[in-house]
Amino acid sequence: MIGFTGCTLDRADNLRLDPAAIAELAASPHARLLSLAGTDPELDGEGRLIWSALPAAPALSALIFLGLRGGAASFAPLVPIDQSRPAYAVFRLIEMMAPEEAALWGTARSLIAWHGRHGFCANCGAATEPFRAGWGRKCSACEAQHFPRVDPVVIMLAEHRGRVLLGRQPQYPKGRYSALAGFVEPGESIEEAVAREFAEEAGITVSNVRYVASQPWPFPGQLMIACIAEAEDDALSIDFTELEDAMWVSRAGVEAAFRGDRQAPFLAPPPFAIAHSLLRAWLEGSEPLAPGAPRN
Ligand SMILES: [Zn+2]
Repeated sequence: MIGFTGCTLDRADNLRLDPAAIAELAASPHARLLSLAGTDPELDGEGRLIWSALPAAPALSALIFLGLRGGAASFAPLVPIDQSRPAYAVFRLIEMMAPEEAALWGTARSLIAWHGRHGFCANCGAATEPFRAGWGRKCSACEAQHFPRVDPVVIMLAEHRGRVLLGRQPQYPKGRYSALAGFVEPGESIEEAVAREFAEEAGITVSNVRYVASQPWPFPGQLMIACIAEAEDDALSIDFTELEDAMWVSRAGVEAAFRGDRQAPFLAPPPFAIAHSLLRAWLEGSEPLAPGAPRN
């Protein structure tokens, strides 16, 4: 399963605009509140999220209604967020979690992070207040409604004669290489964004861009769109303002990285990152390869 996917919670979005129904659900003894340390998940010994009872008469404006589980409501606290804390600080915990648990926590984290950055109206500058059970904010002055945003990011492999292109950003752990990535810009299709990012960051021309899979990424709220493409040539022109390094890696090199070999040419991305799933799909041939490309 791809990281941060597979959440089985019923989002019950029809209830979000019904404050009386939300209040009734919150008052039920079956209602549950997600336990967080700051915005990090609190986990039991098996890596599962911890839920607690809601306080008596909770302030609904301080809660996010995540959805229903077996008829009982699940809420997350609308807490302040330390926007300066790096995403990787929580990766150790995410590695302990099943993807569907991480998906639920990630939903809460994305929403909390969005609220933290949208206290003021982008239209007129006045203060905003949460509404829609935590799935929006409304301006106190001009009444503009603001909704949680998801930013599309393409993350992609280029293939050339049985090797894939991987890059390294300066903030990665030592030895880590991963798929190249970049935000989709206004006016672009996914395929065009992939081609532009490869041209900008690595100086290569690609064709036959194919979608493979997607993943929500809660740092703070991206939709990672994984693709694979064919490179016309393997000569690189690296943009060192974006990447520290980039290199072509053979099938054997990727296999060694997944085995954790000390001699592997790079340290594989963590299992919860879609780059990991994308590389595995390429390795297993579950993604169609370029016609005639050697497999080694
Ligand atoms: Zn406003």
